Amino acid sequence: MNDVDVAIIGAGAAGIGAARHLNGRGLEVLVLEASDRVGGRAWTIGVEGLPLDLGCGWLHSARRNPWVAIAEQSGFAVERRDAAWTTQLQDLGFPPADQAAAHRAFEQWHARLRDDPPASDSAADALPHGGEWNAYLEALSGYINGSSLSDLSAADYLAYVDAAGDEDWRVPEGYGALIASYLPPVPVAFATPVLRIRDDGDGVSLETPRGCLRARVVIVTVATTVLARGAIRLPERYDDRCHAAARLPLGLANKLFLRLTDPEAVPPESHLLGNPRAAETGSYYLRPFGRPLVECFFGGPGAVRLEAEGLDATAAFAREELGALLGADFAHGLRLVAGSAWGQADGFGGSYSHALPGHADARAVLAAPDDRLLFAGEACSPTDFSTAHGALATGVSAAAAALALLG
Ligand SMILES: Cc1cc2nc3c(=O)[nH]c(=O)nc-3n(C[C@H](O)[C@H](O)[C@H](O)COP(=O)(O)OP(=O)(O)OC[C@H]3O[C@@H](n4cnc5c(N)ncnc54)[C@H](O)[C@@H]3O)c2cc1C
Repeated sequence: MNDVDVAIIGAGAAGIGAARHLNGRGLEVLVLEASDRVGGRAWTIGVEGLPLDLGCGWLHSARRNPWVAIAEQSGFAVERRDAAWTTQLQDLGFPPADQAAAHRAFEQWHARLRDDPPASDSAADALPHGGEWNAYLEALSGYINGSSLSDLSAADYLAYVDAAGDEDWRVPEGYGALIASYLPPVPVAFATPVLRIRDDGDGVSLETPRGCLRARVVIVTVATTVLARGAIRLPERYDDRCHAAARLPLGLANKLFLRLTDPEAVPPESHLLGNPRAAETGSYYLRPFGRPLVECFFGGPGAVRLEAEGLDATAAFAREELGALLGADFAHGLRLVAGSAWGQADGFGGSYSHALPGHADARAVLAAPDDRLLFAGEACSPTDFSTAHGALATGVSAAAAALALLG
């Protein structure tokens, strides 16, 4: 590995965005990626001829999401249909009056967060004592934030909600495939985890198992969990960044794909919440894009428990919840085809970042300007954290800062 002007650590959405911005500017750029693939938490796999997103799947805030234009320019179709996740197929297990009450509880909790925010900044402290729909709100937090409400900064959560748009679109060929395809023709060193960064003259040296290289500027895009664990040793003056990363842990969300024996058993593009009165329950997207699949989504403490038990146990849990709503025959006809375990995955340790109560300001600390190490990645976004478009924007900003530094 030769010395470079800019080293980009991580080939996820942020690293790809940074590489794209730097490409063609006459600089030596190298992307160092710990795994053997591009995309990071954006990952489309092909199973039985179907593209499945194990990581990001929804183009959130779609009307202002830059991946929409990138998709269209790159020949990827964009599905603009409304998401089905706010609906309950045939109101199964969730009568309309309960749906209305649960929705009201969600709105009232939001109003309390906004109008009477808890002094603790813990989102759980805005729940009504003994509230009938508290478990439902916990389940939603699991999906949205990957965490329980007691670990969630109310201020940070509101910063996202206030900036987010209502439209959520999809890429039938896979969001992960789109993001990976956006990597420009820059060199990528795969299977090359950066282990240490040291000051070295007017630049830095990076240590990897494949040897060392020098760079004038480094863009660090690894997930906060990776930084907080000290997987990359940094010069002491970046301790504040590592502490900030620890205050922005990755919550957990996992997906599981079950193939339907009888695809006509349920309507396409429909949805079921497993148990609206349980904090640990699955969200089941039935026949996404009309495919013969159920895409199961688990988040928060429930996802942590299921991930520890393994994919087969998670599939059994999903069959049980779906069987209770759609009948035992339907549940028997579900075959496990793929699933994620982001918490155990090397180089990730979770799914998306949230701020711990009292630490919404950690995002600005992590993303603060510097003359050698520029931090990027979804957790650095002040409002679009936890998303692929937020990650892209931080990568582009870091690349612009690198260009300014290098004159
Ligand atoms: C299950 C799930 C569902 C999601 N759903 C959505 C969604 O619908 N919409 C949405 O917008 N977002 C969603 N997200 C979040 C989105 O995927 C992420 O926010 C985004 O992809 C993060 O990109 P990133 O570049 O910041 O980080 P990453 O994708 O984590 O990229 C960092 C890269 O660094 C590499 N790396 C780690 N350590 C090292 C090292 N020491 N040296 C070199 N390389 C290293 C990693 O292998 C990785 O490739 C979801 C995520 C998950 C897991």
